[in-house]
Amino acid sequence: MHANTAISPTVDAPAAASLRNVTRVVRGRPTSDGAGVKLTRVIGQPALDMLDPFLMLDEFRSDQASDYIAGFPEHPHRGFETVTYMLAGRMRHGDNQGNSGLLTAGSVQWMTAGRGILHSEMPEQEDGLMWGFQLWVNLPAKDKMTAPRYQDIAPERIPEIELATGVSARVIAGEAGGVKGPVEAEATAAVYLDLRLEAGAAVEVPLPQGHNAFAYVYAGHARIGDGPTSELLRGDLGVLGNGDTVRIAAPEATRLILVAGKPFNEPVAKYGPFVMNTQQQIVQAVEDFRAGRF
Ligand code: FE
Repeated sequence: MHANTAISPTVDAPAAASLRNVTRVVRGRPTSDGAGVKLTRVIGQPALDMLDPFLMLDEFRSDQASDYIAGFPEHPHRGFETVTYMLAGRMRHGDNQGNSGLLTAGSVQWMTAGRGILHSEMPEQEDGLMWGFQLWVNLPAKDKMTAPRYQDIAPERIPEIELATGVSARVIAGEAGGVKGPVEAEATAAVYLDLRLEAGAAVEVPLPQGHNAFAYVYAGHARIGDGPTSELLRGDLGVLGNGDTVRIAAPEATRLILVAGKPFNEPVAKYGPFVMNTQQQIVQAVEDFRAGRF
């Protein structure tokens, strides 16, 4: 966190492709949030507080209505982005500015809370499977008080491509196989891929060097890289080390999300749904919220 660190005078020679290995494996822990929605918190818990710029990753998955029906009634956010990716089910989104949208299976909502929104996220179903992820992506200091913005992406706008034999990818953000995803995430240059591998398939996926990255296996079993912790089972998040390429093999039919973003290396002050740089900015956020300035 040295803002004025001198730039090293050494010039790096162009490197050959280097493999990103799994540096640690984290399992989520069951918790509940909102009005009592049961979910698994994978990032934003003691085992992995954050992975700059990622502040939180939740997986919600249940076919028991009582686990999700209470939803997330009106609540605020400031200073970061929430990314909701639905695998199954329907969620109704609404905010205090009159914005509303229905998140259906296969859709993504990339919401930039910026200086503040007040919204609700409620299931629009009374039974059946509700399955998806919510990822919190930090904003850099200069963008924390930006105007709120929604990128609601319908399923058909997310390109699905074949990356290798038996390997398909939905490209939500960033680029894969020469195809760009629909989400704009300028500050983090985020990559968000949903990969599906058939049993026995393997693929190499380039990821920008210097990005922090993780893979989260949500079905099956993946082998990532060739390090000592390369085996990821369903529910395992693998933090990926440095390099420019991820090698993934699937001993069985497997699905995972592969996510990467440029770290900010800025101080983080967190208080519930407010994520700022200093404690004073948190106090301000609470005051603004209480005064109805969101
Ligand atoms: Fe929210």
